Amino acid sequence: MAGEPQPDCLFCKIVAGGIPATVVRRTERVLAFRDIAPKAPVHVLVIPHAHYPNAAALAAEEPETAGELLAEAGRVAADEGLEDYRLIFNTGAGAGQTVFHAHVHVLGGKPMTERMV
Ligand code: 5GP
Ligand code: ZN
Repeated sequence: MAGEPQPDCLFCKIVAGGIPATVVRRTERVLAFRDIAPKAPVHVLVIPHAHYPNAAALAAEEPETAGELLAEAGRVAADEGLEDYRLIFNTGAGAGQTVFHAHVHVLGGKPMTERMV
């Protein structure tokens, strides 16, 4: 069934508590925790508890959870005192995705004015 935990998925293991993480927010459907290799002073990953390979797949199957993911990303930024921040959804290995469980990166706490688009 769509959204079921996958045995070999790192983020499913974090959701289940099998791998420790520094959790900053948790709701019934969404979990936010600090990235193990931060690329900015604030680097938090916000993920659905349910397993989908990327954010677009999550939005297609569970639009409410996708909305909550974004709202939680905004709450993380507010909790961290960030007015300016980036949300990044790497999608596909060629775009830098390394963990194939939907997630958004919340990055902030330093100037990030370099542009890709
Ligand atoms: P992606 O490259 O798929 O967009 O993002 C995956 C992120 O997960 C990377 O930024 C990486 O540092 C982070 N990550 C990988 N393994 C772990 C882990 O075991 N714990 C935590 N907290 N983050 C991890
Ligand atoms: Zn997963």
